[in-house]
Amino acid sequence: MISNALVELDRRHLIHPVTSYRTHEEHGAVVLTSASGVHVQDAGGNRYLDGFAGLWCVNVGYGHQSIVEAAAKQMATLPYATGYFHFSNEPAIRLAAELAERAPGDLKHIYFTLGGSDAVDSAVRFTQFYFNAIGQGSRVNFISMEQGYHGSSSTGAGLTALPVFHTGFNVPLPNQHKIPSHYSYRNPLGSDPDTIIAGSVQALKEKIAALGPDTVAAFICEPVQGSGGVIVPPKGWLSAMQAACRELGILFIIDEVITGFGRLGPLFGSEIEGLTPDIITAAKGLTSGYVPMGAVFLSNRLYEAMADAAGPAAIGHGFTYSAHPVSAAVGLEVLRLYTEGGILENGQKSGLHLMSQLQTLADHPLVGEVRGISMLAALEVVTNKATKALFTPEIGIGARMAQAGLENGVIFRAFHNGTIGLAPSLNYSVSDIDELVARVKATLDQVAEQAEVRAVL
Ligand code: PMP
Repeated sequence: MISNALVELDRRHLIHPVTSYRTHEEHGAVVLTSASGVHVQDAGGNRYLDGFAGLWCVNVGYGHQSIVEAAAKQMATLPYATGYFHFSNEPAIRLAAELAERAPGDLKHIYFTLGGSDAVDSAVRFTQFYFNAIGQGSRVNFISMEQGYHGSSSTGAGLTALPVFHTGFNVPLPNQHKIPSHYSYRNPLGSDPDTIIAGSVQALKEKIAALGPDTVAAFICEPVQGSGGVIVPPKGWLSAMQAACRELGILFIIDEVITGFGRLGPLFGSEIEGLTPDIITAAKGLTSGYVPMGAVFLSNRLYEAMADAAGPAAIGHGFTYSAHPVSAAVGLEVLRLYTEGGILENGQKSGLHLMSQLQTLADHPLVGEVRGISMLAALEVVTNKATKALFTPEIGIGARMAQAGLENGVIFRAFHNGTIGLAPSLNYSVSDIDELVARVKATLDQVAEQAEVRAVL
């Protein structure tokens, strides 16, 4: 069978991201072959409801012919153009202008990357250049959050605070520092929102004082911590952190790689608290995963200071594929679908329904907490609701959830501790949401019945 041959070739030659190579050799690949609307299909002919929009990126859903046509047309007319040597291309110019018009605050200058990791990397480089430009080159330290994720480049993996991205690699870098997460379900400060907010502000101030106030460049965080387990901050936390950064004279960088492009309802997650960050990083929903692209949004203040300081000299940061015309053409059509195509509005409506329907699973014996905003959600899985105890690693609860999900015809993110992450595409109808929640419930029921799981409940 062709799929068996592919699985064998995959095993021998294809290295998978953030995967145990040995476990993968044993497990074998689930080879996906086609997708349409909210479903994906594998080489064995199985059809799954995609509850995770690929990797929280296919926000418009699968199979939009207008995106295919935009890419094909651009490939046929101008498949590539460099941005070096003063060359440019129309889709990239138009996409930058449209994004600048819609971005919060005065983020009027856009630098396009290939994805989220190099967007974060670029944001760090721009920050460094900015502080050198204004004569504050002593500001070399970056502060991020425990449970945060900022990509897999050396810089981003160091800002990330998930152990698997550090183990065996020489990160974090010496200039990268962390403060505790706001994680209200498991916070030593308790679950009171005001106490958590005050605690984070205090932690930031203390970290800056300890490092030396004139040595800190920026604080970076996600509007909702994604890969850390879909951890939603208390209302007011983001604006309090922005105010603290302004007071302390450091840059406030918002990593919107997951939360951008309608995932939390509005186009930018920053809008939920009216934030005006100095820099936003984005990717994923920008092109809805149809082709790779990321972006860095820079404020006028940063851009002007950098441009003035460099004068006629080049600012030495750039990639061969910065502002790629095919990606930009896709980005323009995806943006049109969000706005004129009604996908953003649909996501807001379905997001409200998702949040209310997930509450029906709060009583499930395996569910410790239901949390989320709009089309980004998680069910934290525990063995005991009162003690919030987690499954021990030998149970392999994450792998059990993922497998049971496939058997129930649904794909979601199964975190290693069993937490289920959901990020449906924004084209889900209300009845698609009902089906998603029903399949997730069937999955939880199936896993709860397994002898090894039942034994510890
Ligand atoms: N930042 C955040 C917040 C992310 O969630 C991710 C990817 N999940 C990245 C950065 C890195 O993006 P990419 O995988 O496109 O490099």
